[in-house]
Amino acid sequence: MDLKKHIAIVEDWPKPGIKFKDITPLMNDGEAYHYATDQIVEYARKKDIDIIVGPEARGFIIGCPVAYSLGVGFAPVRKKGKLPRATIDVDYGLEYGKDILTIHKDAIKPGQRVLITDDLLATGGTIEATIKLVEELGGVVAGIAFLIELTYLEGRSKLDGYDILTLMEF
Ligand code: 5GP
Repeated sequence: MDLKKHIAIVEDWPKPGIKFKDITPLMNDGEAYHYATDQIVEYARKKDIDIIVGPEARGFIIGCPVAYSLGVGFAPVRKKGKLPRATIDVDYGLEYGKDILTIHKDAIKPGQRVLITDDLLATGGTIEATIKLVEELGGVVAGIAFLIELTYLEGRSKLDGYDILTLMEF
């Protein structure tokens, strides 16, 4: 299936010069969303995954149907202040300034094999921070799956040594 035809490219959003890849048309199309999810499920089955971890908010959209299909759990990674119980935190760089990502301290048990999911790999900063959280809790990052990779931003260079699946490249 040609998944790319379900991605809308939005010029100058959220800022001038950015060509935003909008995944909502893909989510709107039941067949395309199901097909994309199945590709990631197939990948995850080979990796013997115990739990899925995804950063807010689009990491949930990709990861939760995969978790449901595999019959494993899902742990959300959220911005500071959004999770209600004890968390561990990590700082990560944004284009301008910094932000903090968090995960519940009891979200992952040491030794669990984790699949990290997100919609898009750009500079890799979000996933680099997510990996830090997973590994601090003793999780093993067995794979990372994205719908889209922006290859020209070379985010993969931050994820050296990890196994990555991307369904589309721009
Ligand atoms: P990174 O941390 O790799 O630079 O940025 C990736 C994060 O920003 C992802 O969580 C993703 O949701 C968001 N993001 C950045 N650019 C885009 C884009 O063009 N389209 C979508 N859908 N998300 C983006």
